Amino acid sequence: MIPSTAIVVGAGIVGLALAKALAERGCRVVVFERHERAVGASLRSPGALWLLGEANGRLLELARRSRRAWQEFCEAADVWYESSGCLVPAYSDDEMALLQEFCAASGQQRDCQLLNPAQTRERCAQVQPRGLRGALWSGEEAVLDPRVALRQLPLWLADRLDVEFRWKHAVTRVAHPYVWSGGRRHAADAIYLAGGADLPALYPQLFAEGRLSLLRRQVVRLAAQPDGFRLGCQLHGVAGLAAWPAFAALPAAQRLAERAQADSAECGPDDLLLLQNGSGEILASHALSAAPAAATGDSLQATPLFDALRRLTLLPDCRIAQSWQTVHACSAGDFAIQPEAGVSIVAAPAGPGLSLAFGLAEEVAAASA
Ligand SMILES: Cc1cc2nc3c(=O)[nH]c(=O)nc-3n(C[C@H](O)[C@H](O)[C@H](O)COP(=O)(O)OP(=O)(O)OC[C@H]3O[C@@H](n4cnc5c(N)ncnc54)[C@H](O)[C@@H]3O)c2cc1C
Repeated sequence: MIPSTAIVVGAGIVGLALAKALAERGCRVVVFERHERAVGASLRSPGALWLLGEANGRLLELARRSRRAWQEFCEAADVWYESSGCLVPAYSDDEMALLQEFCAASGQQRDCQLLNPAQTRERCAQVQPRGLRGALWSGEEAVLDPRVALRQLPLWLADRLDVEFRWKHAVTRVAHPYVWSGGRRHAADAIYLAGGADLPALYPQLFAEGRLSLLRRQVVRLAAQPDGFRLGCQLHGVAGLAAWPAFAALPAAQRLAERAQADSAECGPDDLLLLQNGSGEILASHALSAAPAAATGDSLQATPLFDALRRLTLLPDCRIAQSWQTVHACSAGDFAIQPEAGVSIVAAPAGPGLSLAFGLAEEVAAASA
């Protein structure tokens, strides 16, 4: 049975998506957020709705459902959203082989196609032409600006679904049916913890047991590009694709991973993703190993991130305006872990949590019914 009342801790995208899914099912929801607005990984992400890496099946369907929910919300709330698609250019035979195997395995199940070099440059004139063999085009990806979307979504939830927000309310203790915040305790039938990277403070043992983990990503915002410049789509490097579920089982993924290991400098950072938001800003994002890279500011220009960026594109202006690194919490399996009856810890699986949030929240809410 859907709970009559729920407390959601955290106003990042997972918390907001849960609030929406529960409130749409008739639950009275109060969201507690420790800051005056959401400040976690959701806000610091560049805003790619990225589906390409999910294998056919449950996660891909959740990501599609989530993208539809994002689009509906953005249209209803007049928030910028672009159906950008994603282009993955290939610069060697083994990279091209991976893209060919992916297209052959996907059949009719995905909106994707292989492009030759001329077609690739037609899609995106800024793709680096030197050594270009072709590209994979995926039509399912989209871009939004989390700074705008995460500001508007709480207003929309309060207005449309009567969700109540307690900003600047850190939850310091949880014991069902109560949470403690601001020197008071608050009760609800169900408690959902979507505290992101702050979850270790409340449940350190789940991280020690490996049921939740923290992953780190780096984002670089480039200087404003010349007048009216549009990239036209997301760009993704091939190197990082081999590790994603949709690609990992393909024979070429293994060969590519071996080459990357043998010559890591040439392949650059895994998972390089480039996009342009509604304000015209270009953002590049990639996964980092647990140890943070020391490079910041202009010294980033000499790092593998920028080597990879220049191998992939010919941008008019590659000067850095801002860069940051952030961790985000990921579940190893289930989206919702129940440390005690009535309490659920909710986190997205490793990867694009912004892209999955609405879908996974629907699943968590439906499981409560
Ligand atoms: C740099 C970076 C780039 C990324 N890029 C993308 C991308 O392009 N596309 C994509 O799909 N995914 C991306 N991701 C992943 C995605 O951002 C995360 O999976 C997702 O944002 C996680 O959302 P969340 O709500 O769980 O956590 P968060 O967004 O971190 O939200 C948690 C919130 O809980 C609040 N909180 C914590 N503890 C408490 C407490 N005790 N009391 C009250 N409030 C509390 C925090 O203040 C915070 O606002 C990226 C991640 C990172 C780090």
